[in-house]
Amino acid sequence: MRAVVCHAGELTVRDLPTPVPGPGEVLLRVTRAGICGSDLHARVHCDVSADVSEEVGYPGFMRREHSVVFGHEFAGEVISYGPDCKKRWGPGTLVVAVPMVSHGGERHLTGFSESAPGAYADFVVVAEDMTFEVPEGVSAEHAALTEPMAVAYHAVRRGAVGKRDVAVVIGCGPIGLAVIAVLKASGVKHVVASDLSESRRKLAQRVGADVVVDPRVDSPWDAACERGRYITRAPDMLGVAFDAMHRLRRLPVVPWRPVFQAAERLGAVPGGPVVFECVGAPGMIENIITGAPFRSRIVVVGVCMEPDSYRPVMAINKEHDFRFAFYYDPAEYHTALQMIADGRIDVSPLITATIGFDSVPAAFEALGSAEQHAKILIDPTSDAVL
Ligand SMILES: [Zn+2]
Repeated sequence: MRAVVCHAGELTVRDLPTPVPGPGEVLLRVTRAGICGSDLHARVHCDVSADVSEEVGYPGFMRREHSVVFGHEFAGEVISYGPDCKKRWGPGTLVVAVPMVSHGGERHLTGFSESAPGAYADFVVVAEDMTFEVPEGVSAEHAALTEPMAVAYHAVRRGAVGKRDVAVVIGCGPIGLAVIAVLKASGVKHVVASDLSESRRKLAQRVGADVVVDPRVDSPWDAACERGRYITRAPDMLGVAFDAMHRLRRLPVVPWRPVFQAAERLGAVPGGPVVFECVGAPGMIENIITGAPFRSRIVVVGVCMEPDSYRPVMAINKEHDFRFAFYYDPAEYHTALQMIADGRIDVSPLITATIGFDSVPAAFEALGSAEQHAKILIDPTSDAVL
């Protein structure tokens, strides 16, 4: 079969033997595979990721000297089954799968490990238990975006965003756009999006952002503060609570402590917006804690591969909450597929090109500069160039 192999930072199209599904595994013919920012990172920074992965207990992540077939976002047709399968679907059934396989009790990340070649190939092996049939009416193109939508869905859940919260999405690359789409699909009323690129701002609008700003011209924080009652100055943060206390203590017999706490729960001391960092570049966290209102909840989704610094004392002054989001669980993956299938999420604005294998290096180049493209899909049967 043909496949795109990454070795020492170079991407080349090679002929490889068609993989053989092991116990509990299914062989798929790849119909579409998405190129992800993580693939771009892994091509250059895989040793950094591999070191971190090893520190957190997964020694199987790719290293620079390995030869790895990328591709963890994909849809494909069932071709054949390995031993011990339930054989749930007939040949040709369109499916998607959580990109994780298990060999001899060891789990591996499909598309990021020599032990689990991914879907930049004619064929890919997946775990039957992690596979879901694509509902009627959903194209392979759209189904291939299940994985990035699952990442976004997980991030939004990590953010515990309420429908009346203001969500601020910093960075409108593929993941930022996916987060916006999921926020709107979840009924969040006010979504503010910010990106330096004009084409990405247009895409943000198309996936449903209510306010889109160019941060060189307008502040996303001003836009958030127009939509929610937020505190932006330290004296107000203390002042609101002091005023409430002052009023309570003038009443002679009131049990002031439970009343004060109840008032706090009802919003007498406002919280902040939920901010999604979807850039992943050094300085972004500092940028956000400096600009965001007090008590913002900051969900870091952008993958910054370098050490970064920020002023903890600023985050302390503002009592910011930090949450970091990584991957998703199989149930979230399935929900993402459902959201695409029932039309709550329209992924079509995200797909900016479909190409053949030979154009993959050019696509990596184009996505690196980020101006024009969001999601580029690979169609193994296509000769299309970028
Ligand atoms: Zn991805």
